[in-house]
Amino acid sequence: MLPPDDFDPPVGHAETLETGLRRIVAPNPSPMTYRGTNTYLLGETALAVIDPGPISDSHLTKILDAVGPEQHISHIIVTHTHLDHSPLARALSDATSAPVLAFGAADAGRSAVMQQLAAAGTVGGGEGIDSDFMPDILLEDGELITHADWQLEVIHTPGHIGNHISLGWGDACFTADHVMGWASSLVSPPDGDLTDFMASCTRLQARNWRVFFPGHGAPVDDPAARLNWLVSHRLSREASILELLENTPATASELAQTIYTTTPPALLGAAIRNVLAHLIDLKGRNQVTHDGPLHETAIFSLKHPS
Ligand SMILES: [Zn+2]
Repeated sequence: MLPPDDFDPPVGHAETLETGLRRIVAPNPSPMTYRGTNTYLLGETALAVIDPGPISDSHLTKILDAVGPEQHISHIIVTHTHLDHSPLARALSDATSAPVLAFGAADAGRSAVMQQLAAAGTVGGGEGIDSDFMPDILLEDGELITHADWQLEVIHTPGHIGNHISLGWGDACFTADHVMGWASSLVSPPDGDLTDFMASCTRLQARNWRVFFPGHGAPVDDPAARLNWLVSHRLSREASILELLENTPATASELAQTIYTTTPPALLGAAIRNVLAHLIDLKGRNQVTHDGPLHETAIFSLKHPS
């Protein structure tokens, strides 16, 4: 599946996607954020702002300018605590008096394995985390946020980061960085957890979605196909890792450089993190092992049944 290269909306423009839904792209394009973070404005009177975005005075102004005379911002909802999604929430809240709602602080929702790795502090990671973030209102899995002319269902989808939520809106879903059309998600331990990521995919696959509105890039019009692709993409990466380890033990970095041959150099670091996430998942499933403590440069080998 190729990325939709024709997605290049004007930055800072509130574009109507559907009745009651607008999108403003933040001015933070990069290899990791594509054209920039998508900030969504949901509602006709009382607006929910989903993912205010990075710290940016101009983006804050664009969000406030998009509020019509009969409208006000009633909710600020953050899908996860990465610096391209959450930091502007506080300034927007200060400007509007709307509360900030999210699953939790930066370390919320971590799996037991990742809590241990985070405490050990040996696997690196921590890229782009908004460690200062604290919501006013904590959201729980399954909770319904109902207001005026919209209702959102909180769906906890850890994997990209433990506190990541998706938001169901009828048969549409705001999938943030869990499912995007232009790229697969970064899963970087100890915040990212591939075991959780796959389970979150399975969870979304159980529903019949019409469209996904991602945190970056164009709406995904074929959610089921995209989820199937994501899962099979991960399984094929896993198969490549196991095949290489069949021949010789290797580090995450060595495996990534062999597997991600078409990846631009700027993204190789992210590829290494993804491979490490696979190795930790495979270790949890008792398929690989490593010498000494688990750190970024640990050498992994297949665990043959004894
Ligand atoms: Zn993210």
